[in-house]
Amino acid sequence: MPLTRYQNFVAGQPMANSTGETFEVVNPGTGEVIYEVEVADESVRQAALESAREGFATWSAMTGMERARILNRAVAMLRERNDELAKVEVLDTGKPWQEASEVDVNTGADSLEFYAGLAPALEGNQQDLGGDFYYTRREPLGVCAGIGAWNYPLQIACWKSAPALACGNSMIFKPSEETPLGALKLAEILMEAGMPAGVFNVVQGAGEVGSWLSHEPGIDKVSITGEVGTGKKVMAGAATTLKEVTMELGGKSPLIIFDDAEIDNAVSAAMLANFYTQGEICTNGTRVFVHEDLYPTFIEKVLERTRNNIIAGDTLNPETNFGALISAKHRDLVMDYIRKGVEEGATLACGGEELSPQGVEGGYFVAPTVFTGCTDDMTIVKEEIFGPVMSVLTFRDEDDVIRRANNTQYGLAAGVFTRDIKRAHRVIHQIQAGICWINAYNESPSEMPVGGYKQSGIGRENGAATINHYTQLKSVYVGMGDIEAPF
Ligand code: NDP
Repeated sequence: MPLTRYQNFVAGQPMANSTGETFEVVNPGTGEVIYEVEVADESVRQAALESAREGFATWSAMTGMERARILNRAVAMLRERNDELAKVEVLDTGKPWQEASEVDVNTGADSLEFYAGLAPALEGNQQDLGGDFYYTRREPLGVCAGIGAWNYPLQIACWKSAPALACGNSMIFKPSEETPLGALKLAEILMEAGMPAGVFNVVQGAGEVGSWLSHEPGIDKVSITGEVGTGKKVMAGAATTLKEVTMELGGKSPLIIFDDAEIDNAVSAAMLANFYTQGEICTNGTRVFVHEDLYPTFIEKVLERTRNNIIAGDTLNPETNFGALISAKHRDLVMDYIRKGVEEGATLACGGEELSPQGVEGGYFVAPTVFTGCTDDMTIVKEEIFGPVMSVLTFRDEDDVIRRANNTQYGLAAGVFTRDIKRAHRVIHQIQAGICWINAYNESPSEMPVGGYKQSGIGRENGAATINHYTQLKSVYVGMGDIEAPF
């Protein structure tokens, strides 16, 4: 049977390319090719640009209330079509249905709902200057480009487009080549909800298409979710036309567990922070620092739960709670890191091997892996692995663990578990990271701004603060008297 072929989405509808070039998409949970997608060639790119310019003119002229009504209709449709969309995400990403059906569509819809609420509330201010006065206007930037990673494709498309669209911008979105369908589904839903054609466009392809978006003079902003190295390339491209940038990049986040922590909650957090979405989450707490006095109990519980509670298998089976990595290439990369961990002297306490669950032997599964006896200089402790690999380290002194937690180029996230309220805040205030949790981990409601310190990012997503990253401030000075001139 011929593969289903998907096209780019331009000016409110699918658009065929002229070269006929396509790429294939694989279900990582089985290793099977599931459909093919047309690459955005030159004709598609130019059409997308024109469409986004026209879309911007129409959309930015509408009131915030009008935009909000359309976004809210899309929110309702996303929630109504939850199961269909969750299935798309399971097949594209290899994550378990158990997660996608609860989290992926819902958190995307939440973000659109949050910004739909803010759209009519956008306002400037005015200040009296003793007769004369000035006022400010929050104006949209124009055409924004979004470039997505593959771990939460639909959610990332929503998180980028929600603030952009609420503020009156149009968008050209490029999903990861590995997970292209979610963004197309979002485009269809936005159109059905009444969004004018051209406001949300999807272009498909690999890094080269992302590179075009970064360099293109007709685009006013680029927002990427991806690796630090890719972020640097995008920022260099954006610099050629001085575009605004938002960078949601990688991390190697510390999770610090003090001796007075509620042990079962701390263990649950460490498990979630390393094994949820099979470890493919940017904010994961992959450096787990445990106080020496708590360590024996902590590690016993972590190993017991890792060995007994994780069910890898058919990603569409609701019982499965642990999925497959995004590709064979990524699985091999994760396995290389595991080998390096052993070579450099860490103790492989559990996992460390590839898995072939019955019935889905072709999937790219790696067992949840726990390393103990880790030291700060090991590769597995320093580099982002983006797979189910937990590195456990021990500490005794508070100042020392803060110093070690901060000893990294990354600054995306951090967590602290302790019952001592003063210590919790004292420690978190000294941690160099943009997203921090106290007695929680990886919770990311749309009300809360997220983004990285240091090389983990620039700008923010979610929360009211992100409005500043999708608007520009215009100041208007109004003269009320005569003009005095010396000549
Ligand atoms: P990549 O950096 O490989 O890719 C991200 C996106 O950039 C993809 O759409 C990719 O296209 C595109 N791209 C690749 N090269 C270029 C280029 N030269 N110019 C412009 N765009 C380009 O990241 P992954 O997709 O592998 O995602 C994993 C990474 O994302 C991890 O580092 C993770 O930490 C980070 N991430 C960060 C999050 C955050 O909010 N801070 C959230 C989720 C993930 P293609 O894939 O089609 O080649």
